Amino acid sequence: MLKQAQNLLQKYYGYPEFRSGQEKIIDSILNGRDTLAIMPTGAGKSVCFQIPALMFPGITLVISPLISLMKDQVDDLSGLGIPAAFINSSLSQRETDERIFRARRGDFKLIYVAPERLESEKFCRLLAPLRLSLVAVDEAHCVSTWGHDFRPSYRGIRPFISSLPQRPVVAAFTATATRTVRADMVSLLELANPSIFITGFNRENLSFTVLRGENKLAFVKNYAADHVDQSGIIYAATRKEVDSVCAFLRSQGLAAGRYHAGMTDEERTWAQDEFVYDNIKVMVATNAFGMGIDKSNVRYVLHYNMPKNLEAYYQEAGRAGRDGEPGECILLYSAQDVQVQKFLIEQSQNATEERKTYEYRRLHDMMDYCHTTRCLRQYILHYFGETDVPAYCGNCGTCSDDREAVDITVDAQKIFSCIIRMKERYGVTLVADVLKGSKNKRVLQLKFDSLSTYGLLKDRSVEEIKDLINLLIAEGYLGLAEGEYPVVKIKAKAIPVLKGQAAVTQKILRRRVKPVSENT
Ligand code: ADP
Ligand code: ZN
Repeated sequence: MLKQAQNLLQKYYGYPEFRSGQEKIIDSILNGRDTLAIMPTGAGKSVCFQIPALMFPGITLVISPLISLMKDQVDDLSGLGIPAAFINSSLSQRETDERIFRARRGDFKLIYVAPERLESEKFCRLLAPLRLSLVAVDEAHCVSTWGHDFRPSYRGIRPFISSLPQRPVVAAFTATATRTVRADMVSLLELANPSIFITGFNRENLSFTVLRGENKLAFVKNYAADHVDQSGIIYAATRKEVDSVCAFLRSQGLAAGRYHAGMTDEERTWAQDEFVYDNIKVMVATNAFGMGIDKSNVRYVLHYNMPKNLEAYYQEAGRAGRDGEPGECILLYSAQDVQVQKFLIEQSQNATEERKTYEYRRLHDMMDYCHTTRCLRQYILHYFGETDVPAYCGNCGTCSDDREAVDITVDAQKIFSCIIRMKERYGVTLVADVLKGSKNKRVLQLKFDSLSTYGLLKDRSVEEIKDLINLLIAEGYLGLAEGEYPVVKIKAKAIPVLKGQAAVTQKILRRRVKPVSENT
């Protein structure tokens, strides 16, 4: 069967072989198994349902929320010689009827519909006599309120499928990989004992680095100046920050543009075109920039601030190196970024407590990424659920050779002892305050100034101490109990360190860019 699939890939698409992952997904679908495929945009999802569609006797119904893309996809298929049609609200009743008539006659192998259509009983009755072999649900995370774009109409998919005279194979596709959303897709689409594949997340040509404690403005200026003939994007968290970073780069003689939702449509289109046509090399932008922009030769993506979660980060960083040539992704971390993101979670309208807890958890994963001393690529791929990932990639801030390991065992012991003395009931900030020897009200109220660990790290700044604690969290020595004010706890891994039986090291990146003085 797979041989035949491969022949079709060659015959219709002209590709000599499947990408890693595609083959297993297709095999699962062809074997009649419900299938959940989690793969990022661009990994080659379409082939995974189009090839089975060609091989199954009946029709494949593709449910897709993107009306604007449906026509393009159907045109592409027609261009390849694969008979397909779409049915959505852009058609008149007569056109819809005609397409259904032709479908019944067997004119199409694939039919694309918008999920809203399935809410119409009349429409479902019209579809019922069609022999559906496969239902492919695109953007399947839309069924979950935990995803980034919940669509109520997706809740109609399950009743639609169970109303069919014969149950087709159901294959769901998404790029969203969080566990909660995954579980929702399986239950809300009623996937029957599905095989689940997570694949295609690795972007070999991209390197990943996190820098903490940089002078950010100096860093991005130097970086952009060192890469003047390359295109790059600098993401910042707020419009204000975009404006000031962009103004600074321009004042330094760099051809920078800016992009955020506070600009007019014309300004944004203009800025985008200037970037796409290489008239400006570096774009300073909020996360509003990038969707639907197809620029393949972006050589670097710098994050001036830490984004809210790893999915957002990976999507933005992933805009580098679309052409397969090397791309560099650098995240500039500072503790204030955490405050901004927490503020945004707290401010989010209509968010339930449960929702906030969920967002905090994802934020903590993002913070862990910023502090881990593990291979960053491995960290990302594990986050997305890929297994079988080597612990060394050779192309990230951890694996590259210009880092030196520094022994921080004594600092770690001080931190662990302090947390134990404080009875494991407080958050990162208060622990840091006590270690710093702060005289703030809360410390004095709780009488922590009388602890033997009070002021043990007084020669460090509070931010440095917090960074150390976050590093120990990321490395699994400490844990955070969930919630708005997460409490730091000691984990088993810390015990041998406390007993002096194990050492803790931190990898320090040697500065690659010299700091500039403020007046340059
Ligand atoms: P998405 O997962 O975003 O839907 P597509 O299905 O559009 O991605 O595929 C992304 C690109 O990869 C397309 O240009 C597609 O033709 C190409 N592609 C898919 N499968 C293969 C393959 N096996 N070999 C080479 N190119 C492929
Ligand atoms: Zn690595």
